[in-house]
Amino acid sequence: MDFINSPHPAVNAFVEVLTALTETATELNDSDAEEISQQCLLLGERISNAALDNQSVSDWDEALQLALKLVKRERDFAITRIDDFRQMIWVVIQGLREAFRDEQSADNEVIQHLSSLNKAVHSDSIDEMRTEIVAAIVLINRAIEDRKNRQRVQLEELGEQLNKMRHDLLIAQKELALDPMTRLYNRASFDQLLEKTIELSLFSGQPSSLLMVDIDHFKDINDKYGHISGDRAVLHVAQVLSKAFPRKTDFVARYGGDEFAVILQETEARDGAMLAKRLLGDMHGLTFVAENGERLEISLSIGVSALLANDKANDWISRSDQALYQAKRAGRGCVWLAKVDD
Ligand code: GH3
Ligand code: MG
Repeated sequence: MDFINSPHPAVNAFVEVLTALTETATELNDSDAEEISQQCLLLGERISNAALDNQSVSDWDEALQLALKLVKRERDFAITRIDDFRQMIWVVIQGLREAFRDEQSADNEVIQHLSSLNKAVHSDSIDEMRTEIVAAIVLINRAIEDRKNRQRVQLEELGEQLNKMRHDLLIAQKELALDPMTRLYNRASFDQLLEKTIELSLFSGQPSSLLMVDIDHFKDINDKYGHISGDRAVLHVAQVLSKAFPRKTDFVARYGGDEFAVILQETEARDGAMLAKRLLGDMHGLTFVAENGERLEISLSIGVSALLANDKANDWISRSDQALYQAKRAGRGCVWLAKVDD
C-alpha cells in the first residue's frame, strides 16, 4: 500500500490501527464451521502448551473448560481491542479535523470522509471500520499531496513577489544614491564613499586625490540666459566629467549647485592635477546650447589635494576647497594643487 511510511503522523497512526486490527481481532460470531475448527486446532496447540507450562490438564473435561475459558478470553480481548481502536480512531479523527480545519473548503472531501469514519466508529463492525480507515487513508494522502502542491505554488508566487520587491528596492536604493538632475552620485553617496576611500587608503597605503570642481561665473549664465540654460550648463559639465573620469574606481558626484567632486583612488595628487588640466584643455571648444539656441562655452576652476595621513573627511574636503578658492583667485579656468603643508 502506498500509504505505508507516509511522512504524515496521522496517516502513520491509521496504519498502526490497521496493522493491529488485522493481527489480533477475531470475531467468532461471523465465523463459519471450518474457521472455528481451525481455531480449535490452534487452541489445541495452546492447550498442550499450557499443559507443558505446568497448568493442570487432568482430563478432556478440564481441557474443554480451559478451551472455553481461552475462547471467552479471546472474545473479551477482541471486544476490548475494538474499544481501544475506537478510542484511537477518535483521537486520529480529532487530530485530522484540527489539521485540515484551516483549509476546510479545499479539503471538503476529507472532512466528509472523516464524518463517515466517525459513524463507523460507532458501529461494532471491524470490517466497516477497516473499510472506512483504508478509504480515509487513501483520501487523506491525496489531500496532503494536493495541499503540498498548493503550498508549493503559493511559495513560488510568494518568491516571485519577493524577487520583484527586492528588484524595486534595489532600484529605489540606486535612485536614492543619485542626483535626480545629472544622474551623478549625490552628496550623501559622496560622503559615504569619501569615508570608505579614507579607510581603504589607510589600510592599503595607496594614495588618493580629491578634486573640487566649480563652474566659473555661473550666476551670469542664469542671469543672462535664464535658469533653464543654467540647468543645461550643469548637465553639460556632468557629462564632460563622466567622460573624463571613466575608471570604475573614479567617483564623480554633484556636490551641490554648480560644484562637483571627483574622488580618484590609487592616484597621486600630482596625477589628479594633471588629469584636471587635461580636462580643462578638452573643454575648450566644447559647447552646450542655451535656451535661446546660442552655443555657449563654459570654464571650470578645479582644486586638487592628496589624502594625508590622519586626515578626517572634513580635513580633506576643506583642503581641496581651499585649492579651488585659490584657483578662483588665480583668475579661474585653472587647476590649483594644494601643497602638502596647506
Ligand atoms: P564663481 O565663478 O565664483 O563660482 O561664480 P559663480 O557665479 O559660479 O558663483 P557661485 O558658484 O556662488 O554661483 C552658484 C549659483 O548657481 C547660485 C545658484 O543660484 C545657482 N545654482 C545652483 N544650483 C543650480 C541649478 O541646479 N540650476 C541653476 N540654473 N542654477 C543653480
Ligand atoms: Mg561657481
